[in-house]
Amino acid sequence: MEDFWRLETSMVHAGYGPEAHQRAVALPIYQTAAFAFDDSAHAADLFDHKIDGYVYTRLGNPTGQVLADRVAALEQGVGGAVTGSGQAAVACALMAIAEAGDNVVAASSLYGTTYHLLAQTLPQYGISVRLCDYNRPDQFRQAIDSRTKAVYCETLANPSGHVADLAALAELAHAAGLPLVVDNTLATPYLCRPFEHGADVVVHSLTKYMAGHGIALGGAIVDSGRFPWAAHGDRFARLTRAEHGVRGQSFVDAHGAQAFAARCVNGPLRTMGAVLAPLNAFLILQGIETLALRMDRICFNAGLIAQFLSEHPAVAWVSYPGLPAHPDHGACQRYMGGRASGVLSFGVRGGRQAGADFQDRLRLVRRSTNLGDCKTLVCHPASTTHRQLSAEDLRKSGTPEDLVRLSVGIEHIEDLLGDIDQALAAR
Ligand SMILES: *Cc1c(COP(=O)(O)O)cnc(C)c1O
Repeated sequence: MEDFWRLETSMVHAGYGPEAHQRAVALPIYQTAAFAFDDSAHAADLFDHKIDGYVYTRLGNPTGQVLADRVAALEQGVGGAVTGSGQAAVACALMAIAEAGDNVVAASSLYGTTYHLLAQTLPQYGISVRLCDYNRPDQFRQAIDSRTKAVYCETLANPSGHVADLAALAELAHAAGLPLVVDNTLATPYLCRPFEHGADVVVHSLTKYMAGHGIALGGAIVDSGRFPWAAHGDRFARLTRAEHGVRGQSFVDAHGAQAFAARCVNGPLRTMGAVLAPLNAFLILQGIETLALRMDRICFNAGLIAQFLSEHPAVAWVSYPGLPAHPDHGACQRYMGGRASGVLSFGVRGGRQAGADFQDRLRLVRRSTNLGDCKTLVCHPASTTHRQLSAEDLRKSGTPEDLVRLSVGIEHIEDLLGDIDQALAAR
């Protein structure tokens, strides 16, 4: 039945049935660290994986499992795992396959902390990154070598708004025997399902649009179940060899199509402990129920705001892939149905001070570095997150001095336009 549900239905129901939970219509929060064994024979069966069940919340919890199953259903994958934050999802997915001496070939248009993970943290453990222009498949092909373990990109990059050519990246990854790992945070499965375009693993920060309320951090890893790990057994020994597996079997032999998800759970997630709290899983599920409704409104509002800004005399430029003039508008149409989610950036005439003044004059829009909230948020990086950088370095990092980023929410469009207009007009 679930196989035939449309996304909107899966957002509300996938992964949960009242029958297994005392007939509770709302998902219960299993606020417990551990689960009791009936007797030693029951414990033995659990540890031998002869029966399904829960042992300890770091290894799994029923509330978190419903969230993992729901995100997997929305992405149309075979399974996955939830993590304590989006960063934990990115780190666990890559550390499940890469080890010292290996490298990851990634698009350079990345979320700032993912960039730091790849450029600073993972190299400490011998995993290096090769960054390529998101638009240059030839650079990716040249960067791949025998120690590459994954090709990595963001569907709709944060904050640049670059839209990756998923089909081209999947094709070149597969030609080299590699999985394509895609961060689908900004697009959400409502606007884009990377598995339909050849991706093999999807990661999410559930903190943003998926939850939508800005009250809890969380992340997810989803396995498409389609990457042929066994066909590249030497390269992916952590998945294909019994000595790296569980109970004398490799992950591929023990878990089949869900080998990658099982490796994430039993490897990095379990041993580094980046687990999601049951309460946060519950809160995020509350948000996912309304994902389609929110994204419809957010795309509608963001489109009108982008149009308004592009016609405003106090605005120097606007970048939003939903606008026909944007260089990635074609990719946005191909991969996201032309709907570009809620993040847009623009330049206020007058440079760094004008950007800061605009941000300060807003009355309704909140000043925050977060995004994906129901509330519209503004960030002027040159006076906040990137304030240490010189004008030259700001330009190089793709965040010029005048850049203002808006994460558009679900308020009434006239109230948003009114606030933005008064903050621009007061100049
Ligand atoms: C926010 C974000 C992350 C990190 O997620 P957290 O939940 O903040 O750890 C990763 N990727 C993208 C694209 C993001 O926007």
